[in-house]
Amino acid sequence: MQILVTGGAGYIGSHTLISLHEAGYDFVVYDNLCNSSKESLKRVEKIINKSISFEQGDIRDKKSLQNLFKKYKIDSVIHFAGLKAVGESVEKPIEYYDNNINGTLTLLEVMKEYKCKKIVFSSSATVYGDPHTTPIKEDFPTFATNPYGRTKLFIEEILKDLYISDNEYKITILRYFNPVGAHESGTIGEDPNGIPNNLMPFISQTAVGKREYLNIFGGDYETADGTGVRDYIHVVDLAFGHVKALDYLNIQIKNKKPLIVNLGTGKGNSVLDVVKAFENASNKKVPYRIVERRAGDIAKCYADPSYAKEILNWEAKKTIKEMCEDSWNWQNNNPNGYIQGEKK
Ligand code: NAD
Ligand code: UDP
Repeated sequence: MQILVTGGAGYIGSHTLISLHEAGYDFVVYDNLCNSSKESLKRVEKIINKSISFEQGDIRDKKSLQNLFKKYKIDSVIHFAGLKAVGESVEKPIEYYDNNINGTLTLLEVMKEYKCKKIVFSSSATVYGDPHTTPIKEDFPTFATNPYGRTKLFIEEILKDLYISDNEYKITILRYFNPVGAHESGTIGEDPNGIPNNLMPFISQTAVGKREYLNIFGGDYETADGTGVRDYIHVVDLAFGHVKALDYLNIQIKNKKPLIVNLGTGKGNSVLDVVKAFENASNKKVPYRIVERRAGDIAKCYADPSYAKEILNWEAKKTIKEMCEDSWNWQNNNPNGYIQGEKK
């Protein structure tokens, strides 16, 4: 029996492949490589010392998915595939709805056809909108402020309806907080296209000299130092959360409604905390200047991770120091990401 990992060549997917392998799970990766390359899979193969079954294709392509389900004995799906850039989703809503929602619907149709009823879905803390209080618990109200967030919310609702229609489905929705860091080998990591939107890749590209300075978006939030606070979680911890979610689905008795779980550390770090931790880890200066707030940003967002501990027996272990060290190790060894020697 195999696990289908959609989007497995991407940042979180590639790290999850290692965790799955270590836990003894067999898998096949399906990815259209629109935001990744085969190089990440080659590097995972080196780490796990095993070749990976990979099929290149789009989750909106029904025929291609049917061929995949014909070829492999797929028992469950970890569904990472999707577009994820908030700003881009505002500019290109149709592409986001098509890719993320139509893609998921097509995947669910083919899963149904092949009686595959177990799925772990990558959702996001963005579904909490601007929460009234922190830490954030799973039963907080949900709200989306942009098309990307809405695709996550809609897919969560689609999955809940699917369970109502057939309670043999076993569904886990994982709401990630802010994934950062890289595998300890320094050979796989986050490889954003162009100018990074997210904090950690921007900091590491500044430290390595690719960017002149970091713009800190807002210094007047109601936080201890005035900069935004987030729950940064090491991608290796996050990856292991998927193994625990899968273990749970495999032992879970039928007739259980979709499980919704936060994957975060429960600790909030400000932008300045991260800059400081990164400078210590890399021994490099990260020049910064404080600029206007970024539209749509919130002051504070961090998880109450206690439900993940209770239900999945999972908790994040790695510290902000390790997150920065591993991000730096990846960045320093691969200044141009997976494309060696070329300027991105
Ligand atoms: P990523 O872009 O590195 O990985 C996504 C992968 O999906 C890529 O390899 C891409 O090529 C593939 N893909 C996209 N559309 C596809 C399609 N139509 N068909 C087949 N493959 C397709 O992103 P990531 O950071 O690894 O995120 C994985 C998932 O986690 C996404 O669903 C994302 O929305 C979600 N998530 C990410 C974060 C984050 O900060 N990284 C936070 C919360 C949730
Ligand atoms: N941030 C920043 N400069 C950047 C990118 C991000 O100051 O170049 C801040 C942002 O305002 C937020 C935090 O860093 O407070 C995390 O932002 P990111 O985009 O990584 O994640 P998200 O906004 O999705 O939580």
